[in-house]
Amino acid sequence: MSTISPAPGAPEHGPRDTRGQDAPSPGVTHGPAAVDTPGGADGPAAASGPTVADSPAAATSPPVANSPTVADGRGAGRPRATGVKAPTGRGLTARGWPQEAALRMLMNNLDPDVAERPEDLVVYGGTGKAARDWPSFHALVGTLTTLGDDETLLVQSGRPVGVVRTHEWAPRVLIANANLVGDWATWPEFRRLEALGLTMYGQMTAGSWIYIGTQGILQGTYETFAAVAAKRFGNTLAGTLTVTAGCGGMGGAQPLAVTMNGGACLIVDVDPTRLQRRVATRYLDEIADDLDDAVEKAVRAREQRRAYSVGVVGNAATVLPELLRRGVPADIVTDQTSAHDPLSYVPEGVAVEDARAFAAAEPEEYTRRARASMARHVEAMVGFLDAGAEVFDYGNSIRSEAALGGYERAFAFPGFVPAYIRPLFCEGKGPFRWVALSGDPADIAATDRAVLELFPENESLTRWLRLAGEKVAFQGLPARICWLGYGERDRAGLRFNEMVASGELKAPIVIGRDHLDCGSVASPYRETEGMLDGSDAIADWPLLNALVNTASGASWVSIHHGGGVGIGRSIHAGQVSVADGTPLAAQKLERVLTNDPGMGVIRHVDAGYEAAERVAREHGVRIPMREG
Ligand code: NAD
Repeated sequence: MSTISPAPGAPEHGPRDTRGQDAPSPGVTHGPAAVDTPGGADGPAAASGPTVADSPAAATSPPVANSPTVADGRGAGRPRATGVKAPTGRGLTARGWPQEAALRMLMNNLDPDVAERPEDLVVYGGTGKAARDWPSFHALVGTLTTLGDDETLLVQSGRPVGVVRTHEWAPRVLIANANLVGDWATWPEFRRLEALGLTMYGQMTAGSWIYIGTQGILQGTYETFAAVAAKRFGNTLAGTLTVTAGCGGMGGAQPLAVTMNGGACLIVDVDPTRLQRRVATRYLDEIADDLDDAVEKAVRAREQRRAYSVGVVGNAATVLPELLRRGVPADIVTDQTSAHDPLSYVPEGVAVEDARAFAAAEPEEYTRRARASMARHVEAMVGFLDAGAEVFDYGNSIRSEAALGGYERAFAFPGFVPAYIRPLFCEGKGPFRWVALSGDPADIAATDRAVLELFPENESLTRWLRLAGEKVAFQGLPARICWLGYGERDRAGLRFNEMVASGELKAPIVIGRDHLDCGSVASPYRETEGMLDGSDAIADWPLLNALVNTASGASWVSIHHGGGVGIGRSIHAGQVSVADGTPLAAQKLERVLTNDPGMGVIRHVDAGYEAAERVAREHGVRIPMREG
């Protein structure tokens, strides 16, 4: 039997505080008092003071750390919480670690050091949000804080809509974001519903609370450029120049991924603040004074076979054709502007500071101009292809948008998954990530060592972890990512759980992944482009993946629509599991971290990939149609 108790306004969330700050619910403490920070060392939350800033109410209220929760889920008249910081340390603000983990990861997604536009709840990817609006955020925090070990919170497009009675093996949170029925799955209809306050765009890890800053994509980007190097340039990018654009939450990983592979990179972004942020976090070496300066420096680094990256402020639709006209010797050309959403791509002739108001006021005209600009942008990319460069679509739908903008050869170059990543997917390999809930970087250093000890024979993993340890500046809660396959992820998860149990780690570890994984996405322009059997658009797989993870004991599970490629173009699922050191967590981790990548093996066996069949045979993955 289920008990439905809508979160907003539910009395158990405590009395309403008329000052605009929340009052702690009975029996549940919020804020630094609840955070165990021995010696104050690992408690940036406790140390950082107010986490609710820049609102009139906050300005007149005493600093309240870690408690942008509200008793009244509707949050009418509530301050908009910015400056959100997740609690850290061993102390619980929620009733158990799975709930605490969801709470901390939700808050971490909106940490100003992590999110691209936290004031708008936007985490990354143009408009990818962690919660629908601030009242929903407050209600999510309040509900997660009081949620029992036999309850499950239901989240519909960033809003908590119910709490149902389940059991301890069930996920504590089930999330569905941005899903629309097929014929209605268009941007205009999505925008209409969004404007009515009925839905939100969840991207992949924004709305499923497992974004870990730009590092999350860095490893995948590093792997992709390593694959490009292996395919065309003798296993190194030394002596090559990569030209790309889009230096945002995901795209900002490109310059560092190129330099980690030894190459030179010139990256264009229309917004100088995005480039500045990447310099501050050491993802980008410097920003050029102008295009001449950028070209001169990038070409010199290429000639000197030096790892180097330079950013230049400009519109890619203008700059790329100009680079082509000048005959700049680009060896690799790609793009990660937010092209998946034409209202996020800045058209030529529009100042970045005017773009959002223009898009809101005249979405159709803005879309037309953005697509026309993308047509020119992609035409230049095809020009570089014709000149012999390695050119690929980096998962942002720019080819399809350019085609809609009238450019006929938009699909002349491939997407990056069929070009470089699919062989890894066949082995159940994908982006395995983890986060230290202690907030202590030493916990990540310890887990890095543990992973190196588990997989000493894996050279690229070893190289990655060494470089990541040196070059990656953490954003928000310390985190790490590496690609692990079937038979590997469960071993790593169980080892982390043992380390939590033994006290080697200061607090539990959250283990999740991007939705961009081997068995969790249907996305014909990206993860499932050009499948061997033509099954690109079959969306049963991500739904089965979410069901499998729910049945296997994941801590929270999500099903999203749109992700990196836009409305109407993908369905994808995510899971996050918590290693809290308990025997129950060990059992759950063993199942989830086997079955989740197992879906990748199964999906690719079904599509006829021999490499996946081999992995299934070797590891005993059961495929009924291949039995007896
Ligand atoms: P973001 O919104 O954080 O950044 C986009 C950047 O593009 C911004 O810095 C913006 O200023 C810039 N930009 C927009 N129009 C421009 C133009 N005309 N010229 C130059 N710069 C322009 O988005 P993000 O998180 O970095 O994601 C970028 C894209 O990559 C999105 O479409 C996203 O869906 C896609 N994506 C790809 C992958 C992948 O694995 N390949 C993963 C996630 C997201």
